[in-house]
Amino acid sequence: DLPVRLEMIANYVTNDQVIADIGSDHALLPGYLVGNKKVRKAIAVEVNEGPMQAAQQNVDSWGLSEAIDVRKGDGLAPLTESDDIGTIVIAGMGGMLISSILKAGQEKLENVQRLILQPNTAADNIRRWLIEQNWSLVDETMIDEAGYTYEILVAERGDPYEAYDNDQLEKQLWLGPWNLKQKQAAFYAKWLREKRELESIDQQLSKAVKNEKTEAKRQQIQQRLQWLKEE
Ligand code: SAM
Repeated sequence: DLPVRLEMIANYVTNDQVIADIGSDHALLPGYLVGNKKVRKAIAVEVNEGPMQAAQQNVDSWGLSEAIDVRKGDGLAPLTESDDIGTIVIAGMGGMLISSILKAGQEKLENVQRLILQPNTAADNIRRWLIEQNWSLVDETMIDEAGYTYEILVAERGDPYEAYDNDQLEKQLWLGPWNLKQKQAAFYAKWLREKRELESIDQQLSKAVKNEKTEAKRQQIQQRLQWLKEE
């Protein structure tokens, strides 16, 4: 069975498109989408030989090799213009890695309509990248599964500031503008953990030697704790 996390991602894929799943591992997501006829074609990209072979074996065993292309390569590099990709999914990696894959593959994004990104960390980094590159954040969701909290970000071409308010920008970049509106159970679970973490760091810093760096860090922590208090 597909993990709930991947099912939520699949729900954000609009029908009949060609999708690319970057860092596809065992090609579970493309298998589900093509197997359920949600998309007509999928490209599963893997940089590592092991997962790439596991993906290919799965696709063959499902009898889906006509509709799912397994390609070895780094990030968006294996994608070509003639693939006519509507949606790119990058899931299950750190936010910094996801941003750097998008950055490195900039020119491959020209005709792509939707990005579905699921960073394990540093979602704020992705939100900043989306703004810089004129992508509009159209939805977010947070889920708890097997003891982890996952964030999914969905972006389309459009006004990059649409989801944000001028006077709340930094707070919204950190916590997610849609997450803040929706306040799912996973939101509270994640940020309660984070609050404790921040308080503990602040406690340690308060005992450390005062210098510009520790003071700046403490100020940032105070600001963040204040934002969390507001929620
Ligand atoms: N996307 C799947 C999911 O969400 O369940 C698999 C996530 S798995 C933790 C991350 C996968 O990304 C690994 O199989 C790894 O080999 C692959 N990967 C890491 N960096 C990559 C890159 N630059 N290009 C393509 N694949 C990459």
